[in-house]
Amino acid sequence: MGTIEIKYDLNKEKKAKPNPDELGFGKIFTDNMFIMDYSKEQGWHNARIVPFGYIPVHPASTVLHYGSEIFEGLKAYRRADGKVQLFRPIENIRRMNNSAERLCLPQIPEDMAMEVLLAFVKTEEEWTPSKEGTSLYLRPFMFGNDESLGVHAVHNATFMIIASPVGSYYKEGINPVRIMIEDQDVRAVRGGTGYAKCGGNYAASNRAGERAEQNGYSQVLWLDGVERKYIEEVGAMNVMFKIGNEIVTPALTGSILPGITRKSCIEVLKSEGYTVSERLLSVDELEKAMDDGTLEEAWGCGTAAVVSPIGELCYKGKKCIVNGGKIGAVTQHLYDTLTGIQWGKTDDTFGWTVQID
Ligand SMILES: *Cc1c(COP(=O)(O)O)cnc(C)c1O
Repeated sequence: MGTIEIKYDLNKEKKAKPNPDELGFGKIFTDNMFIMDYSKEQGWHNARIVPFGYIPVHPASTVLHYGSEIFEGLKAYRRADGKVQLFRPIENIRRMNNSAERLCLPQIPEDMAMEVLLAFVKTEEEWTPSKEGTSLYLRPFMFGNDESLGVHAVHNATFMIIASPVGSYYKEGINPVRIMIEDQDVRAVRGGTGYAKCGGNYAASNRAGERAEQNGYSQVLWLDGVERKYIEEVGAMNVMFKIGNEIVTPALTGSILPGITRKSCIEVLKSEGYTVSERLLSVDELEKAMDDGTLEEAWGCGTAAVVSPIGELCYKGKKCIVNGGKIGAVTQHLYDTLTGIQWGKTDDTFGWTVQID
């Protein structure tokens, strides 16, 4: 008997598995989904795995009016030996509880969260594709679900996990992206919700993202919300730079999302003797490094892409090509190391993976 009883009411009709060449991202969903409810009186209850489908939501539900929503993103990977494994899931669970604390949503005890996650992945395991670079993307999320328009910390919430087989991020090889440094909109301020993985942060980011896209850039690089001077992160990724012999990534000041890929990159690099600094990095310092040629590499890092080399940066109309627009040696090394561990191709000397059995 675990921390919570899960009721299984599974989909009787199994959908046909998709063509692994046409997966894309987050468009196809598995047969079932996980749901549990929270109330102040009962705590978490009614945990169930049910057929994937629409959910009834009261028109006055908190999430629809006041945006009480947080989410996580992690992947299940099919190893060469056929087994399925997760990458550092406890980190996602801890971050979700930190996000929940910020938005006054309820905590899920770590052992309960791990248990329901593993039970759900086990149920949907066969949906984990095996083609190179593909995986089963897991999207846990929680929302405030009071059926009233009063504004206060929620008394009722819903937690769900859905799963989506996703394609390789790099179907045509690792192509460096063009990034626009955003000097108007800001994503987050200190004291705000920048460190929480909440839907509202994304809603507020879309305008700048659209503008960048219209100008031929794939994502924006955010500056801090107070002085618009310090580098924070890229759209949905953290960011790292190789300046001379130093690997620099913005410190977690409260307005940056503490990425698990970021943390893993830092741990890999430090274990190999690289100098890694988590510190403030101003756009002026970056501009200087671009001008004097010491900016050797730049890359984003996040679960979806693992690492994404930045081939061009644009700031106030001034363009800088990084490393001749090609992926650099450190970026490539991080990609190979992390994907090696995630897909079970190399030994997991860090003890990061959790096997589904
Ligand atoms: C999820 C996310 C990241 C990356 O986090 P990972 O845990 O590495 O996937 C970075 N920035 C933002 C804004 C995010 O939402």
